[in-house]
Amino acid sequence: MRAGFVDAVHRPNRIVLSQLNTVVAASFRASKPLAVLLYGAPGSGKGTLGRMLSQVTAWPHISTGDLLRRHIEQGTPAGQASVEILRGGYAPDSVVNELVADRMAQPDCRKGIILDGYPRTLEQTLQFLPVLRRLEIEPLLVRLVLDYTEVKLRLQARRFCSSCGAIFNVVRLPPRKTGICDECGAGLTERVDDQTDLIVRRIEHYATLTEPVAQFLAEQPIRSWEFSGTETPNKILNDFLERLQQHSLIEPAPSVAQ
Ligand SMILES: [Zn+2]
Repeated sequence: MRAGFVDAVHRPNRIVLSQLNTVVAASFRASKPLAVLLYGAPGSGKGTLGRMLSQVTAWPHISTGDLLRRHIEQGTPAGQASVEILRGGYAPDSVVNELVADRMAQPDCRKGIILDGYPRTLEQTLQFLPVLRRLEIEPLLVRLVLDYTEVKLRLQARRFCSSCGAIFNVVRLPPRKTGICDECGAGLTERVDDQTDLIVRRIEHYATLTEPVAQFLAEQPIRSWEFSGTETPNKILNDFLERLQQHSLIEPAPSVAQ
């Protein structure tokens, strides 16, 4: 069995957890509440890292896109307010700030949270940092650094199974049979937003709108770490957990006899 992107995404418990050689996932705890703020270009592996980290720490992985979609589906006032505006692109900062603040007040967020795609604007950032200070949650900026040329190549090489959702990469993790899913035998497709024009647009969007926010955060007096997006998701996760431990942000949980 090959270990890699597909395995990490689809069989996290078996593959990822067995490869955590530095930290035994089930036996550590956060020393203090942390808010991991994840930044990285589309295709940098940010979403994968967020999900894997959430699985080993049990900190909720909060994507503002998902949060908003849920509110719209459930027809909450915030969701309704966003529907119209969303047709044009992004929900207003005030709505997003409120949704995130609400979500963070829930009990499962007490030890830590992983924020993916928030804060996305300077305005959101200026609102959010004082909220963290008030809640005594320490922000931790995590940037996945990947050259834009590499991002483009990587996105163009992605193939998805429309039947079971497996992800392949024709360069880095090709299926055994060209165009056929290893898992279920269905045909593989490119996701619409991975097609070239849209890829370029997504990268430009990230570079002009989101990257400056990450840059702004990096200049604040908060912890800021960078990882190379060229590493495998498992390696990045291991390095990240090791670093959390080195900085005493997580510690081994007390053993049974105490
Ligand atoms: Zn499949």
